[in-house]
Amino acid sequence: MADVLFTNVRVIDGSGGDPFAGQVLVRGNRIAKVAKAGEALDVSGAETVDGGGATLMPGLIEPHAHISFCDTPDLETLGDIPPEEHTLKTMKYAKKMLDQGFTAIFSAAAAKPRLDIVIRNAIDAGDIPGPRMRAASPELTPTSGLGDVRRWHMHRETFAMTCDGADEFRKVAREMVREGVDTLKMNPSGDEFIPFARAHETIMNEAEIAAVCEVGHSRGKKIAAHARSALSVKLCVKHGAQVLYHCTLSDEEALDMLEAKKDEVFVAPTAGMAYVTSIGEGRDYGIDAEHPVAQFFAAELETGAKNMKELKRRGVRVLPGGDYGFAWNPIGTNARDLEHFVKLLDFTPLEAIRAATQYSGELFGEAIGLVQEGYLADLLLVDGDPAKDVKILQDAGRLLGIMKDGGFHKHPAGSRQRGLAAAE
Ligand SMILES: [Zn+2]
Repeated sequence: MADVLFTNVRVIDGSGGDPFAGQVLVRGNRIAKVAKAGEALDVSGAETVDGGGATLMPGLIEPHAHISFCDTPDLETLGDIPPEEHTLKTMKYAKKMLDQGFTAIFSAAAAKPRLDIVIRNAIDAGDIPGPRMRAASPELTPTSGLGDVRRWHMHRETFAMTCDGADEFRKVAREMVREGVDTLKMNPSGDEFIPFARAHETIMNEAEIAAVCEVGHSRGKKIAAHARSALSVKLCVKHGAQVLYHCTLSDEEALDMLEAKKDEVFVAPTAGMAYVTSIGEGRDYGIDAEHPVAQFFAAELETGAKNMKELKRRGVRVLPGGDYGFAWNPIGTNARDLEHFVKLLDFTPLEAIRAATQYSGELFGEAIGLVQEGYLADLLLVDGDPAKDVKILQDAGRLLGIMKDGGFHKHPAGSRQRGLAAAE
């Protein structure tokens, strides 16, 4: 792997600090030196990439990935996909995430027990292209919980593994540890599109939540929770789940508990799914803006936005990641969440970028997410200034270069050639 020197770039380092003109030297798979304009660098032997004034920033990190959800319109359709086809589709979506500038993804549940695991392993082995990946279990849910699509008279599958009682949750969590997950995902609350398990309902009991957390803690795995209801947030914080998705219906006590654990927990509201559903982008799939689920999401966005602003004010790390993986909120459009953070949650563009880089890197648990000496060289060369307009990051055509682990997935020279060809 050749060393690479980026010259003539404006650096957004991911820390929330102001962009600066400079040069960045990558040696092997790490960032060796970050120099401000005017500083001299020893660059013997490095390939020089002249950025031409473009922005160099950390690769985006998705903290709520569902690359095996395959953009299906409903949970039952997802369950219909046989494992062999499902593996190939997941492989395709892994590449798509990297093509869109996501150099790392933290899975928020796989659709089948071993899907994330095999894709992560194949990426790590260099067999297929894809981002760095933390592999999750399917969603562990109780009978009549979010993801239990069975009917009394027939068998149906979905993304969930159904467990009842602390012993069953513990056993399935241990099985998933044996198979090789990094993250255990559980569904302690319902969701508004499940008539028998609504968003405000807490559907796992405390012993079940504690059992999953106990396995995660004792085996060094992260615990991620689908927690919309206030009680589910409190129980998850109490038992040490590190990643709380949604938290939109949190009450004052839940906010206080999250604040007290602000150095340990991460909150991701999943603004994307709520927003596109609320404005009726699901109309082709039977959920227009008048649909009760869309109306719930519209109301939840207001409560959720208020809570997220408050959590941010109190120093809790609020992360993007909007449940991309469904037909009207497809995989690959994940960078829309940064725009939602700016528009809905009053983040500045640099704050939104920090959430998707430094903070999401802290969740991922490796030295990624900052343009800083010693960090792994996951970098984007971007045409334009995302600090002024984060929407730029949604357009893969504006990503001139995508580097993961010190190697180019997309080389800037190729992008420039394509640009020239288009101009002719
Ligand atoms: Zn999700």
